[in-house]
Amino acid sequence: MNLEHIYTSTFPELALPAEPEVPAATTGHWINKDLAVELGLDAAWLASADGLRWLTGADEMTVALAYSGHQFGHLSPILGDGRAHLLGEVTTSEKRVDIHLKGSGLTPFSRPGSDGKAPLSAVWREAVIGEALHALGVPTSRALAVLQTGETVRRRSPLPEPAGILVRVADSHLRVGTFQYAHMNMGSDQRIELAGYALSRHYPQVNPGDNPALTLLQLVAERQAQLVAQWMGLGFVHGVLNTDNVSISGQAIDFGPCAFIDGFSHEAVYSSIDRGGRYAYRNQPGITQWNLARFAESLLDLIDSADPNRAVHLATDVLAHFEEIYQDARTRIFAAKLGVTVEDAAGASSERLVAFIDRTLDLLNEYTLDFTGFFRMLTDAPDQLVELLPASEVMEDWLADLAALRQDTGTAPDRAEGLMQTANPVYIPRNLHLEAALRAAEGGDTVPILRLLDAVRQPFTRRPDLEDLETAPARSRFFTSFCG
Ligand code: AMP
Ligand code: MG
Ligand code: MG
Repeated sequence: MNLEHIYTSTFPELALPAEPEVPAATTGHWINKDLAVELGLDAAWLASADGLRWLTGADEMTVALAYSGHQFGHLSPILGDGRAHLLGEVTTSEKRVDIHLKGSGLTPFSRPGSDGKAPLSAVWREAVIGEALHALGVPTSRALAVLQTGETVRRRSPLPEPAGILVRVADSHLRVGTFQYAHMNMGSDQRIELAGYALSRHYPQVNPGDNPALTLLQLVAERQAQLVAQWMGLGFVHGVLNTDNVSISGQAIDFGPCAFIDGFSHEAVYSSIDRGGRYAYRNQPGITQWNLARFAESLLDLIDSADPNRAVHLATDVLAHFEEIYQDARTRIFAAKLGVTVEDAAGASSERLVAFIDRTLDLLNEYTLDFTGFFRMLTDAPDQLVELLPASEVMEDWLADLAALRQDTGTAPDRAEGLMQTANPVYIPRNLHLEAALRAAEGGDTVPILRLLDAVRQPFTRRPDLEDLETAPARSRFFTSFCG
């Protein structure tokens, strides 16, 4: 297997040599064959004894990546991969991607007293959510493999639980936190080189112009605006939107204690460590903008080294533009979910449409309606919606106003249906289904998790044999998710 190590050799101060802890033997594994094929890797070989050994990093020059990060608003100047190792880079016909391990042992960046490991359940959770997001058209890191190491870790309870390693693929592991670290530790020439590297790796079609740092800020802001709008349209809560978990490529990464909302609340938050709700559903766009402001700060002197006020002015314009792009993307996404066409920019900013989207979410919030289920019922059986509420008039009024909106935007019924069919999934990894499947996997039974994976990988195709995965078990609202 030929991996490249261009990032490591170009920026040695951002990649410290670190050996993974190679398990004596993996006691279970899942190989993502689809992804292996996309990357030109031999899935059968990956599942062989040699392949599994290679996947644990035993044969590669591995490193731990350096980065900083604002964690819940507070800057940690030195964070870095504390339980993760970069295996190397693979080039496909389309792009270069990283292969990275999580749960692979201690590194120079490990938190004091930590074990460098990951629970098998957290590894599977990230794998399933990544496949679901990918199938839903969201740019995301994905699992190439899930390995059970035969070891145990202690997390939520005094009882040990099985440990695992996630072998994941991402467009890169450049984060906002990488640029924050570079700002504090590297000279401006190297930082300009880093910005250029990010541009050519993730935005190869764009001419960087005469202000590459500003161009990078603009491009990352645009992709992050699209990303967070897609999350909002799926009722997805990332969980830990610290600056070290915000990718420069615009992919979703490090969604640890994440979840898809069942019973809707604007304030939905699942992470056991997010007690203040900083990263609640409603806050995600604002927090992303805040994270981009930290990114901007790490670039200001590169944007204009001579005139700090001008640099601030230029960066502030980009952050204001983020808001516009986000609102436009959100409107288009929810319009499709509602079966309403948006033909032009004026349509996307139409006050009436935006007000109707807000009203819809307020309705879901008021009655704690199932987010995914509501939009799918609107798609397949809108007449049944009235039965969801104690008084049918509220929903009847809402449906009448939606019909008027479709009419006035010239949306033909078959067009409305076409939009909704591909915007409103049948299957998401529902919290309690996923939780039950994770418990089974811990006990050695991977049938439920593979079945759930099967469903979420074709999220718009209803299958009679998977009917139970469509609806949310009643206790779902009280679900809490844990960091690995
Ligand atoms: P995360 O919440 O996964 O984004 O991790 C935040 C930071 O904590 C990163 O620097 C991780 O490498 C580190 N970290 C998380 N879990 C562990 C662990 N079990 N052992 C060592 N470091 C960890
Ligand atoms: Mg090695
Ligand atoms: Mg992280």
